[in-house]
Amino acid sequence: MIKKNAQKVAVIGAGIIGICTALQLQRAGYSVTLFDEKGLAQGCSKGNAGHFAIEQVFPLAHPSLFKKLPSMVFNPLGALRVDYRYMLKALPWLWLFIKNMRSVKYRAHTQALKALNDNALGAYEQLLSECDLNDLLIKKGSLLTFETTPLYEIDAMLTSYKAQGIAVRLLNKHQLQTLEPCLSTTINYALLFEDAAHSVDPHLFCLHLAEQFSNIGGAFSQQKITEIKPQQHGFELICQQNIITDKVIIAAGAWSNTLLTPLGYNVPLDTERGYHCMLDVKHSLSRPVASAERNFIMTPMSQGLRIAGTVEFAGLTKKMNNKRALALLPHAGALLATDKEALALNSTWMGCRPSLPDSLPVIGSAPKHEGLYFAFGHQHLGLTQGAITAELVTALCLNKTPKINLQPYCISRFLA
Ligand SMILES: Cc1cc2nc3c(=O)[nH]c(=O)nc-3n(C[C@H](O)[C@H](O)[C@H](O)COP(=O)(O)OP(=O)(O)OC[C@H]3O[C@@H](n4cnc5c(N)ncnc54)[C@H](O)[C@@H]3O)c2cc1C
Repeated sequence: MIKKNAQKVAVIGAGIIGICTALQLQRAGYSVTLFDEKGLAQGCSKGNAGHFAIEQVFPLAHPSLFKKLPSMVFNPLGALRVDYRYMLKALPWLWLFIKNMRSVKYRAHTQALKALNDNALGAYEQLLSECDLNDLLIKKGSLLTFETTPLYEIDAMLTSYKAQGIAVRLLNKHQLQTLEPCLSTTINYALLFEDAAHSVDPHLFCLHLAEQFSNIGGAFSQQKITEIKPQQHGFELICQQNIITDKVIIAAGAWSNTLLTPLGYNVPLDTERGYHCMLDVKHSLSRPVASAERNFIMTPMSQGLRIAGTVEFAGLTKKMNNKRALALLPHAGALLATDKEALALNSTWMGCRPSLPDSLPVIGSAPKHEGLYFAFGHQHLGLTQGAITAELVTALCLNKTPKINLQPYCISRFLA
């Protein structure tokens, strides 16, 4: 039974973060309206790799990346690319990213990511069990494979994962073949992350949660919010027909800055554009399989095999570069034992990851505006961290103590 709270809440952005948050707040008794200019889950949450990657507790800004950055950045089809026309705009972000490689920052950000990821699946299980949707979460673990990396390096990785309390096992070629016979025998080793999970359709996953939200009285409004105007009490949202609301949650993913900047919050949010290809493969893998050397992931989905990855800095408006999506195909061909002709390409897609240079999202209350909350910047882990973010934001709205210390995710870390 949901206890009714007279307060109105507007959640801006109907990606996985906004949908989970809207559902959680509606359950907490608020009268919630979820806004999105493009419809439900049409942004980055539509085509991600569906991996609840709770093992990914290490920030992307790792010192070992420093030496590799220049060669990666200038390879047009490499795993990381900066469009030369976007270079000047990307430079401040990249500079902050490099500064975050310092070991003191790296260690602190690892702890902050771990705190979210440790609670991520529990939060989903809670959210899903309340609407009988637990089978949307497939718990078969995930694999990180190695073709050429020497065993001593893999062992070092294994040790660092274990040191973070992650359930992980090293598999040799034989053990891997037994688990995933479709994988190529060129793979020598793999790490099996036993507690990871996946979704066979991340878009449908969002739609199911949005349906639950509407079943319990939540409203969805397809329109763009162009401005948030603080009032003496609450906020006026500028859109087709302006709306007055008590509280606002900004969950607009990579587009959040358009709403933040006019309110005086300058955040180094950029987008790491990522790509996927859908392949019509009927019998393939049973869990997500990533490649350490090739920097991409393959996830078995209800409509085929999704191969996803790459990072491209080119801003929010430039059209997708299909070549980058297609560049993933040879990698899938190399990792799968399947006949290459059997890997028929069905479709390609590009999504804008909302990314901050310290690999941490912004989750918290606005320091200058009572009733305004932030939930954006989840970079490569938005699907993983959707439910826990919703739980934390809801606790803040209800004036309860969140189960995680929110200091590492507060917006003030970017404010002068
Ligand atoms: C190739 C790829 C693979 C990935 N794989 C994984 C994975 O396996 N696991 C994982 O955890 N994460 C993964 N991610 C990352 C994950 O998809 C994102 O972190 C997540 O989708 C971000 O969700 P979001 O709700 O913040 O943003 P979005 O899903 O982008 O939603 C933001 C929404 O806000 C709306 N919006 C923006 N401005 C306004 C406005 N002014 N008014 C109204 N609406 C507005 C937009 O239309 C959009 O729908 C992947 C990403 C990519 C690109």
